[in-house]
Amino acid sequence: MLNYMQNTPYYFYDLDLLNRTINEVELNIRNSAFRVHYAIKANNNKKVVSFIAKRNFGADCVSAGEIMLALECGFNSADIVFAGVGKTDEEIEYALLNNIGMLHCEGLEEIQVINEIAGRLNRRPRVALRLNPDVDARTHEKISTGKYENKFGFSPEEFAELTQQGSSLQHIEIVGLHFHVGSQITDTVVFKELSERINELVPVYEKYFGTLHYLNVGGGLGIDYQNPDVNPIPDFRNYFETFRQNLNVNVPVHFELGRSIVAQCGSLRTKVVYIKRSGAKTFAVVDAGMTELLRPAMYNAYHKIEKYNNALALSNGGVYDVVGPLCESSDFFGKNVPLPELKRGDILTIRSCGAYAESMSLNYNGRTKIGSVTSEHVLTQFRIIKVA
Ligand SMILES: *Cc1c(COP(=O)(O)O)cnc(C)c1O
Repeated sequence: MLNYMQNTPYYFYDLDLLNRTINEVELNIRNSAFRVHYAIKANNNKKVVSFIAKRNFGADCVSAGEIMLALECGFNSADIVFAGVGKTDEEIEYALLNNIGMLHCEGLEEIQVINEIAGRLNRRPRVALRLNPDVDARTHEKISTGKYENKFGFSPEEFAELTQQGSSLQHIEIVGLHFHVGSQITDTVVFKELSERINELVPVYEKYFGTLHYLNVGGGLGIDYQNPDVNPIPDFRNYFETFRQNLNVNVPVHFELGRSIVAQCGSLRTKVVYIKRSGAKTFAVVDAGMTELLRPAMYNAYHKIEKYNNALALSNGGVYDVVGPLCESSDFFGKNVPLPELKRGDILTIRSCGAYAESMSLNYNGRTKIGSVTSEHVLTQFRIIKVA
């Protein structure tokens, strides 16, 4: 076993799969007016972000910290879009001073603040209006963003008010529209409905703000958490085709994909610290916790769990609740998980952890950030070992 294997917990990133996933995206948008921005909040690991920055993508950022990271990892400022429902004055200043390509604005008070700061800094940023389209993403309620009850985007009232005062905003250039209705969306009907809603809203926009120059339909394409080996790469063909067939606009269309690009290339490797019995239950207590993968605690999300190097050997196994070491009952990774017989020291792989795992990690219970290993790194190590 390679020495880093014992150095759990850590994230493992398969850059070959990431590469093939990006190839598939590019294959489906080449020779088209589609442009993809990688949503950095899905995975902010520098090795991963730098890898993606070398390709033909822009970056979607939701804070000044993410803009800083995107620039540091090699994205061009013109290819960066800045979204977020609570951009602070300092963050807006930072974005303007760095000439980032586009601000996605979500409300009336915010657009007035952007205009004021732009005037003070003598800039004229391009701004797209994020509208709340009232489309149901049919996903987990905590990752739905496109209904009127959600906090995101201009509400119809505030949008109507803006149409009355648009011309008073002299220091910004309103160029288009932005939407994002949710995450882990697996039903393409949602994207069809979004497209139809956009077709209705574009003429309304154009009536007040002139020709639409920019359209961003957000991200949200889901992945197969149940079968990461059967479906390691999401169905990008069907995804882009849905927009191609249903959107009726004549401008370049921007996408902001996070999860669908990075989720399957990552896993979390963790070691069994103790096996513990309680009544009918057997717990495998592992050294990773909700601090390294929050999704089960936050969304009751399913992640496939395997014994490392033993994916096929299910005989003589048991059924385990795989739980972390933190002082929270929500600190679990899976309940009643069939696994080969486990003992102290065994390594488990928690699959599909490339998105919203490392980037959501916490310091709760005095835990420090864990490391990551990429497939390139493994190859290097392997080579060294062979030479020795
Ligand atoms: C989170 C987010 C995304 C990315 O969502 P995924 O489901 O990871 O593709 C894109 N756009 C905005 C505005 C977001 O908040």
